[in-house]
Amino acid sequence: MVTDKDIWEYLEEVSDPEIPVLSIVDLGVVRAVKLDDENCHVTITPTYSGCPAMKMIEVQIIEKLQEKGLKKVSVDLVLSPAWTTDWLSESGRNKLREYGIAPPENEVDKSVLFAEPTVVPCPKCHSKSTKMVSQFGSTACKAHYTCIDCLEPFDYFKCLK
Ligand SMILES: [Zn+2]
Repeated sequence: MVTDKDIWEYLEEVSDPEIPVLSIVDLGVVRAVKLDDENCHVTITPTYSGCPAMKMIEVQIIEKLQEKGLKKVSVDLVLSPAWTTDWLSESGRNKLREYGIAPPENEVDKSVLFAEPTVVPCPKCHSKSTKMVSQFGSTACKAHYTCIDCLEPFDYFKCLK
């Protein structure tokens, strides 16, 4: 018998197309899982609206669950409430750091409000002397930073509310 808990575990194996170290569960994209006999219903909320990855995630969810033996899988997109970086799990934040991407800083909003530069600690040496190189990193969801201390370039996963 497959349970909801199993489905959540299977979904942990579906990674984000843009940040492969993160599962869609880490990202907080999976909102709900419903099992009804042989039908499995998954509700997801897209991350950044500009990310073209959602269709890919939908296909990957269906493929993964069918591979696990679930016959009927449907994926529903729910746009409200909108996804925020607050939904990133703690393990997701740690995985981002290990991957070399600075996770979103929740204080960022305040500094944006007062037009102060955002302090994003370096994911490698944790130095707070970093500077933004570009608003957009490898994808629109990220900004590009450089660490002034270890000179390491890194991406910052932008905070979104
Ligand atoms: Zn550094």
